[in-house]
Amino acid sequence: MIKANDPTLHSWIQISPDSDFPIQNLPFGIFQTAEKDARMGVAIGSYVLDLCVLGQYNLFELIDIDPTIFHRPYLNDFIALGQPTWRAVRNRVSELLRTDNDEISGNSDLMHQCLIRMTEAEMLLPVKVGNYTDFYSSLEHATNVGQMFRDPEQPLLPNWRHIPIGYHGRASSIVVSGTDVYRPTGQTMGPEQQTPIFQPTNQLDFELEMAFIAGKDTPLGYPVPADAADEHIFGLVLLNDWSARDVQQWEYVPLGPFLSKSFATSISPWVVTLDALEPFRVKGPEQLPRPLPYLEFTGHRNYDIQLEVLLQPAESPEVTICQTNFRNMYWNMSQQLAHQTSNGCNLQVGDLYGSGTISGSEPGTFGSLLEITRQGKTPLTLPDGSQRSFLHDNDSVIVRGYAEKGGIRIGFGEVRGKVLPAI
Ligand code: CA
Repeated sequence: MIKANDPTLHSWIQISPDSDFPIQNLPFGIFQTAEKDARMGVAIGSYVLDLCVLGQYNLFELIDIDPTIFHRPYLNDFIALGQPTWRAVRNRVSELLRTDNDEISGNSDLMHQCLIRMTEAEMLLPVKVGNYTDFYSSLEHATNVGQMFRDPEQPLLPNWRHIPIGYHGRASSIVVSGTDVYRPTGQTMGPEQQTPIFQPTNQLDFELEMAFIAGKDTPLGYPVPADAADEHIFGLVLLNDWSARDVQQWEYVPLGPFLSKSFATSISPWVVTLDALEPFRVKGPEQLPRPLPYLEFTGHRNYDIQLEVLLQPAESPEVTICQTNFRNMYWNMSQQLAHQTSNGCNLQVGDLYGSGTISGSEPGTFGSLLEITRQGKTPLTLPDGSQRSFLHDNDSVIVRGYAEKGGIRIGFGEVRGKVLPAI
């Protein structure tokens, strides 16, 4: 077992039992404050630990690392150092935060400089994303959508159980949690229309997803086998793939979604490492028919992560509209990565790979309003009495997620975004 995951570890920092960030998590992110420019931090309880300051105090001197790497506006340079280095830094941070270590706790000047309350830190986009791929890997989501748009008897297209379906998305409009999103304007062709019109979308939706961040460059031409995928994955974030359904429905034939998705994609700021999630590996669903050999894998490659989506109208409290789990994804991340590189396409550090909308098959587990309201046919009634077929202006969507076992909760925090009126 990775020592930093030991459930018996405790920190000298007081951490609430319902915190997403106990000493067993230690996710990486980029933050700034009124006094500090952008730099690397680690989440611990309700604090951000400033790695830049720890580097200045030579607390990483036993690791072969240039401490100026922590003073960058993105994690990419750090990630490029490779899995042994991420692991060594996480292990060292764990050691420094334990009750039996006083290297920080015994130095009040250092402690004052390196611990920042989360309320005083502004979280920034953690990685510079060069390439963004979005998969479509939830069997339940693909089935729900196929039943609505195609054939209730044959909801899945013939390729679905053979290929981890995906498309290349837009990297420039990936934003961090807290960034407001303008309602997009686009071309639509409703059933009553004779010709298309150009107007703000009437069917703005969210998609509940998780995403992994590539941790290693690969050369062109070289596929990554599914069993080697883990060392190419730095960690995971929550993702909201904002979608304009009316635009999507008109534009998606024959090449797939384009402007209905590219206006914004929101991610959570803390990257939870695969190391921290190791205790939450679970077996995925049985895959029939058996995938082709290049998609075969050994071991357990799904993760038990509880997920929820909340909707918050402008003047009302947030309300939970979806609860589901990442564990049931049909295609796992190792297969997605093997498929992405199977044609020799190269990976770059910081690339983002969305899971696709995560839905269950029961009401209450659907990861998009498209599914929840049956494309607007069965609107949601909120506690304030208002109804939603799709998102209204000034609605906020909040996605939260955590893995929990034996009283240890490895959380992701949240990804939040508010809809602003079209420009
Ligand atoms: Ca999506």
